[in-house]
Amino acid sequence: MKEHVIIVGGGFGGLTLARRLAHSGLKITLIDKSNHHLFQPLLYQVASAALSPGDVAEPIRSVLGRYRNVDVLLAEVTKVDKEHKKVYLKNGRELSFDKLILAPGTVYNYFGNEEWKQYAYSLKSIADAIQIRERIFLSLEKAEQINEPALREPWLTFVIVGGGPTGVEMAGAIAEIAKRNMMRDYKRISKNETRIFLVEAESRILSQYPEHLSEKAREILEDMGVSVLAGTPVKNIVKDRVDFGKSSIHTPNIIWAAGVKGVSLADSLEVEQDSSGRVYTEPDLSLPGHPDIFVIGDAALVRDEEGNALPALAPVAIQQAEFLVKYLTGKKEKGSRFTYLDKGNMATIGRAKAVADIRGLTFSGFFAWLLWSFIHILFLIGFRNRFRVFMEWIWHYFTFKRGVRLITGKNYLKEDTLVHAEK
Ligand SMILES: Cc1cc2nc3c(=O)[nH]c(=O)nc-3n(C[C@H](O)[C@H](O)[C@H](O)COP(=O)(O)OP(=O)(O)OC[C@H]3O[C@@H](n4cnc5c(N)ncnc54)[C@H](O)[C@@H]3O)c2cc1C
Repeated sequence: MKEHVIIVGGGFGGLTLARRLAHSGLKITLIDKSNHHLFQPLLYQVASAALSPGDVAEPIRSVLGRYRNVDVLLAEVTKVDKEHKKVYLKNGRELSFDKLILAPGTVYNYFGNEEWKQYAYSLKSIADAIQIRERIFLSLEKAEQINEPALREPWLTFVIVGGGPTGVEMAGAIAEIAKRNMMRDYKRISKNETRIFLVEAESRILSQYPEHLSEKAREILEDMGVSVLAGTPVKNIVKDRVDFGKSSIHTPNIIWAAGVKGVSLADSLEVEQDSSGRVYTEPDLSLPGHPDIFVIGDAALVRDEEGNALPALAPVAIQQAEFLVKYLTGKKEKGSRFTYLDKGNMATIGRAKAVADIRGLTFSGFFAWLLWSFIHILFLIGFRNRFRVFMEWIWHYFTFKRGVRLITGKNYLKEDTLVHAEK
């Protein structure tokens, strides 16, 4: 009998593992609640209409379908029975495993303020990205039909909460839309009216980067017309308003990019977790006391040799998957320690600027953006996606045009009150 390995999650960790274990002689079942692998680092480009959803997502079945030893299931795992080695699916099925690898990623963390979720949109899935895209373009459409500047202001105001790489990238992309290339299509709005705020509780944005790169990122954003509010914790979010204690900003355009937490499946494991729900693992990535169950990627809290927690980044998940492949195929002894090779961090800001910290070598500007573009194309799944994204970027670079400015949801017809009130 072949050993049965169940992988939960077809993200960076799970998909890498399944691909590398194809032809391994093991029986692999990959379970994901969504039918596609999502390249989250480029999701903000879908939210800002630079790319189409299909450019950053690939059906898991089309990646793994050709491997005879790999089964793909579209299902949600709700519970793991560690003692009897079974996983339970939401659809009522249960499956037994010899080895289980959990790579379910994370969800956005509203730090106990779950009611904020309905007013501050997060960016984690294709549906989220489309919702944000519609929000941005709908707001511009509304502003175009309002004459009174004070009434128009909220629709031309955008608040991004969280000054990490996602927040910085999103703020830069919105600045491009609302301050630059889109405004010629909205003849009644001046780009000077649009306001973009990047809000960060800590004293600087990109706090994981060296200080001078944070400062550079702030300068680039402010040149693009983004107001960076560092050291400004959000106190409350209600419909169309963000409160900071002494001040507030009125807008329906609130984007949440302020940290992640473990998924509910991680909670159901009933093992030790950190304050944001990531699961503590042994140095070999197994669950303490359960040598045949492993947790990798964003869901796992793994420490390096100095005791620092590894960041929730795609390369960490990929390297952890590669490490497990060696163990599962007998090329590495059980119990050996996972070590992460940090190849660097990059964040892009707008059309042709980025900041990069590559193993202590720091740089910013156009060259950093070129490197960022090259690496992201290289890591996209599938030649078609790489080709399409490359062509879209060339088109966008030379024409400044965004191709996917579609508002397809019909909710705006219901909430068209501001325009109506003015008539
Ligand atoms: C907007 C954004 C931008 C980012 N930018 C960068 C960047 O520039 N560089 C970088 O390195 N990292 C970036 N990241 C982080 C990076 O995407 C993650 O570190 C990486 O995706 C983690 O991989 P993973 O395999 O742990 O989880 P994911 O890639 O999140 O995959 C988890 C998978 O598990 C599935 N799943 C979850 N729960 C269940 C369940 N109960 N049952 C079945 N399936 C389940 C999900 O559907 C998903 O497909 C970004 C993340 C976001 C959200």
